[in-house]
Amino acid sequence: MPPKQVTIVGGGLVGSLLSVMLSRRGYAVTVFEKRPDMRKVKIPAGRSINLALAQRGIRALTTAGLMPQVEPLLIPMAGRMLHDLGKPEEFSPYGQRAGELIYSVSRPLLNQVMLTAADTSPSTHLNFDSECTGVNLSEKTIQLRNVTSGEPSTHRYELLLATDGANSAVRDAIVKSAGGSWTTEWLDHDYKELCLPAGQQGEFQLDRNSLHIWPRRGYMLIALPNLDGSFTVTLFLNKQGEPSFASLTDASAVHGFFASQFPDAMRLIPNLEAEFFGNPTGVLGTVRCSHWASPSGDALLLGDAAHAIVPFHGQGMNAGFEDCGELLRLLDKHQETWSDVLPEFEALRRPNGNAIADLALENYITMRDSVLDRKFQLKKLLGFELERRLPEVFVPKYSMVMFRSIPYQVVKRRGEKQEHLLDQLVGTASSLEEIDLAAATRTVQNHLPPLASEPQY
Ligand SMILES: Cc1cc2nc3c(=O)[nH]c(=O)nc-3n(C[C@H](O)[C@H](O)[C@H](O)COP(=O)(O)OP(=O)(O)OC[C@H]3O[C@@H](n4cnc5c(N)ncnc54)[C@H](O)[C@@H]3O)c2cc1C
Repeated sequence: MPPKQVTIVGGGLVGSLLSVMLSRRGYAVTVFEKRPDMRKVKIPAGRSINLALAQRGIRALTTAGLMPQVEPLLIPMAGRMLHDLGKPEEFSPYGQRAGELIYSVSRPLLNQVMLTAADTSPSTHLNFDSECTGVNLSEKTIQLRNVTSGEPSTHRYELLLATDGANSAVRDAIVKSAGGSWTTEWLDHDYKELCLPAGQQGEFQLDRNSLHIWPRRGYMLIALPNLDGSFTVTLFLNKQGEPSFASLTDASAVHGFFASQFPDAMRLIPNLEAEFFGNPTGVLGTVRCSHWASPSGDALLLGDAAHAIVPFHGQGMNAGFEDCGELLRLLDKHQETWSDVLPEFEALRRPNGNAIADLALENYITMRDSVLDRKFQLKKLLGFELERRLPEVFVPKYSMVMFRSIPYQVVKRRGEKQEHLLDQLVGTASSLEEIDLAAATRTVQNHLPPLASEPQY
């Protein structure tokens, strides 16, 4: 008999979506979330307030029937607005086909919408202030601690889904039960969030439909819009060295750094110094696990617990949501036989998790550095031109990640090939007019198979 009861550890973005999907499928779902109910308490500032939602995430939310509630929370972003030092702002669209947009969304509001949807099912039990402190896979139990009272308890599960994020309390037991191991590769850059408030009339003080970037080669500042007219600004900067979080030790150092590097942004951040020292500094890392499922076929890692990645492609949540959609597809395929679903899920999703981890690391260099280069901009123009001429063959790498559901490992492989071709085709040209576009089109046709010939999952 397939299990009818599912235990989810972690009611964050992925866990709450999963609970909605599985309860609508007829499962009795019990969620244990260590934090208090975020619909009742205010979330402290400074921890990735807003996120970019893209096609993969939207597809999963649509499957769960949640888009009507999510849509009012979304602010479309059509491209990046570059703030190069001493130059006027420059807009660069992300895509060129209709609907190729990404969306800024508030993390707490999105999470709240999903928790509320989960709560409407009488077969779902949400337990807040309930921290998982350990798991016994052979006895099929998890240990819990009530965060307010400190009281311990034990919960017996039939099927365990661990969506408790990058510092998962369950990961070690699941990976080791399969004889494997996992690693966290820490980035040598940290991040700090700041608030760029709305203007006096509640207006946006920067273009509201762009993701703003201040690339400064070794580091960068970005800003995403919020519904109230403010922007959440994030500084990504080295831990050590000059400049770094370690070197910005007092208000005058922070003031001087922003005044010299981000003068336009600084004018719009009234509480810069207070927020810089008041808000936490976040660390960034990549988690890779050799296994995601227990050999017993009744415990699985999903979302950041399985594949935390750095945020530079805006895909961590999107990839986690895609995990949920893929799980449903496999449940259909295997008629709810979880012991068949889990190994196939791991075999399909793990290489994709590793691929998006690599793509995200690469994109940090693109965002903070390459976007400033003339050759990068010309390759982007040529990529769009080739997509117009060969829409079934050439899709720019960014578009494959953000606007399609092409498996990440296919994106990575094709992206590398395309990059090589673009490098060759651009050569020493300084404008599109200097490139023989008919010859370029033939070269691409000869070297790149149609997208339809690639694996779909
Ligand atoms: C600065 C920054 C910017 C980002 N921007 C984007 C973006 O633009 N687009 C995008 O797609 N992704 C982005 N991400 C990534 C995204 O935040 C994560 O991929 C996403 O939150 C993963 O969801 P999750 O549910 O797996 O984990 P989490 O969101 O971390 O949720 C885990 C949940 O489990 C709970 N929990 C943890 N431990 C326990 C325990 N022991 N017991 C019980 N509960 C527990 C936590 O309280 C939390 O609610 C960004 C990340 C950062 C840091």
